[in-house]
Amino acid sequence: MSKSSCISEIVIEDPSTWLDRIFLTFDIDWAHDAVLSHTVDIVEAAGVRATWFVTHRSPVVDRIRSNPAFELGIHPNFNPLLTGDLTRAPHCDAEIDAMLDIVPGCRSVRSHSVAQSGPIMRAFADRGLTHDTNDNIPESAGMRIRPWRSSSGMVKAPYCWADEHAWSRPQSLDFQDIVDRVGLAVFDFHPIHVFLNTEEPATYGAARPHLREPERLLDLRSPSLLGARAALERLLETAT
Ligand SMILES: [Zn+2]
Repeated sequence: MSKSSCISEIVIEDPSTWLDRIFLTFDIDWAHDAVLSHTVDIVEAAGVRATWFVTHRSPVVDRIRSNPAFELGIHPNFNPLLTGDLTRAPHCDAEIDAMLDIVPGCRSVRSHSVAQSGPIMRAFADRGLTHDTNDNIPESAGMRIRPWRSSSGMVKAPYCWADEHAWSRPQSLDFQDIVDRVGLAVFDFHPIHVFLNTEEPATYGAARPHLREPERLLDLRSPSLLGARAALERLLETAT
């Protein structure tokens, strides 16, 4: 069994804050309240700590905020800027500020589509964000992972496993083995994939037209023992 922790608790110089620990993280990705509640129910029942990267206001986000075991971070979306759509935000600073209006004073960040750059990192640091988890070092790379400090001054805490990577390349489901092997073990889940128990692109593809219809999504759930919900439940067994 390994203890669970939140991302902003990582102190680079103190390995006891990040070795043999499970960092459970969720990219909320504008999930419907019913979809998000489903994941919150599972994680709360397990009584573990977790970091939730927020994309929007919601009563379910308020519920997450009220649980002292949970940390809220931001999940800014820079994709419209990259494709020339300035209607969501005219500048990366505006996108970050809009997210911080929802989660004032938070310390952790992962961008949607893990977008990062020097100016974005400086904008994060200038606004008091201290921990960034935009990097991915897959557990399958066989590397020992530890946090480091970026030139912006932020702590970089890469993730080593993601539910959405499981259906594009081999990924272990032996989570205690991953924790023992990699050192810093950050896991990335998405409530929509937990709800659907996604195990292959076709599951999510069929659901995409119906993301605002949770009743419809129930019919599209995968029964697979290798899907995202099954993986989350295995990881929670390792953390409890
Ligand atoms: Zn995202």
